[in-house]
Formats: sequence, structure tokens, C-alpha cells
Amino acid sequence: MQCHYCDREADIAVEKDGIKVGVCKTHFQEQMEDLADADWLDDVEDQLDIDRRE
Ligand SMILES: [Zn+2]
Repeated sequence: MQCHYCDREADIAVEKDGIKVGVCKTHFQEQMEDLADADWLDDVEDQLDIDRRE
């Protein structure tokens, strides 16, 4: 599989908008940085808040 973002061989397959795409390690890390702003991380932070309120 080829990286979705460049011409390199993909190292990791990720699901993006319901479609599986291959990404190389460099672009996988970029995607993870993008995900740091994603909603699911807010949910995790909410759960951490609950723990802190004990
Ligand atoms: Zn790439």
C-alpha cells in the first residue's frame, strides 16, 4: 500500500472518514498531531476531570 500523502510505501493503515488509507510513519505522526485537536481527546480530558474531582 502506498502512503495517502506521499509516494512512499505505507507503514500503517488508518481509517479516515470510513475509508482505510495507508500512511507512512512521517504522515502518521502528522495525523496524530491533528488528532490531538479532535473531539475524542476532549472526551478523554473530561474523564480525567471526573477523576480529579474525587
Ligand atoms: Zn507519507
